[in-house]
Amino acid sequence: MTFKFEVIHQSKKSRARVGIIHTPHGIIETPSFVAVGTNGTLKAIDNVPVEEAGLQLMFCNTYHMMLQPGTAVVRKAGGLHNYIGRKGPIITDSGGFQVFSLAYGGVANELKSRGQKKTDGHVLKINEEGVLFRSYRDGKKILLTAETSVDAQKDLGADIIIPFDELPPYHIDRKVLIDSFERTHRWEKRSLDHHLKNPQQQAMFSVVHGGVDPDLRKKSCHFANDLPFDGFAIGGSLGKTKQELFALLDYTPPHLDPARPIHLLGIGDLESINYGVNSGIDTFDSSYPTRAARHGIVITAQGPLDLRKSINHDNFGPLDPTCSCTTCQKYSRAFLHHLFKASELTAQCLASIHNIKQMVTIMANYRNKIAAGEI
Ligand SMILES: [Zn+2]
Repeated sequence: MTFKFEVIHQSKKSRARVGIIHTPHGIIETPSFVAVGTNGTLKAIDNVPVEEAGLQLMFCNTYHMMLQPGTAVVRKAGGLHNYIGRKGPIITDSGGFQVFSLAYGGVANELKSRGQKKTDGHVLKINEEGVLFRSYRDGKKILLTAETSVDAQKDLGADIIIPFDELPPYHIDRKVLIDSFERTHRWEKRSLDHHLKNPQQQAMFSVVHGGVDPDLRKKSCHFANDLPFDGFAIGGSLGKTKQELFALLDYTPPHLDPARPIHLLGIGDLESINYGVNSGIDTFDSSYPTRAARHGIVITAQGPLDLRKSINHDNFGPLDPTCSCTTCQKYSRAFLHHLFKASELTAQCLASIHNIKQMVTIMANYRNKIAAGEI
């Protein structure tokens, strides 16, 4: 099956919609949550329980896979799916996000974290060609361009790939922002041209830029609509407050071709997902649920629960009685509380499985509510 997006139901109350993204490795029912597996695995859980929990799309980071183990070995293994033991769909990014986070250092930290560990790599040069940086692993110089980023993503062989783009810092002079914006579009066009020479059944989503400027966002949407991208990913600076993000979600999606799926990059907290679903966003990636789980915070129908708190000491009920995950079927709050207190790594694994299942369930509930005309 090649890539295809079907809208099953369009809400009459909002921009929300239910859809199916078909990929060579299976379907993604939308709206859907996308878990972040930077190095080919989610943190603290391997890919078997992640697929068992029903997670339909996983996000891997090209930058990290380029530096370790290198994309050539992944290609030799037959691509990411074989290499990491995942049957279901995978999306990779261009590597630009991480490289520009290095270039702009602390400024990029203002942006929503995607859960990547801060590295101490070194950017040597940014020009029209691309970005030259030094690997934090072995000091080797690496040139990341539209073409080398796409080549790396061809090696990885994910179902959905992302064109090379620049991530401008949030605090930026308008003139500099516009220069970056225009160069990003040239890079995206080069990425698309390079991709289309050898599509390998991969789909490419355009990254929509423009910061918190409605006019620039609109221009970026038109740029993306006019080219044969398979979908869109809203990226760049998404604002520093929820108000800015929500405003952006009001004014950006209406300019995008409704026949193609829309991803929101790096945003996955429950409040933003709710706003995003109503705004017509189809997929959301975030490391929030796994990061929270590693700190003992689990998502429940009653809100977040802190397993480290002593109130759980002798609570022998499950994390959430409505949850069908393996953790809730087998173990109690009391046992998980004990595992966190004892700093057992198993605690992080069990809590992460639960949070992933919760995200899968929350998104299924959205799909049901949209289909039933409630959203
Ligand atoms: Zn559970």
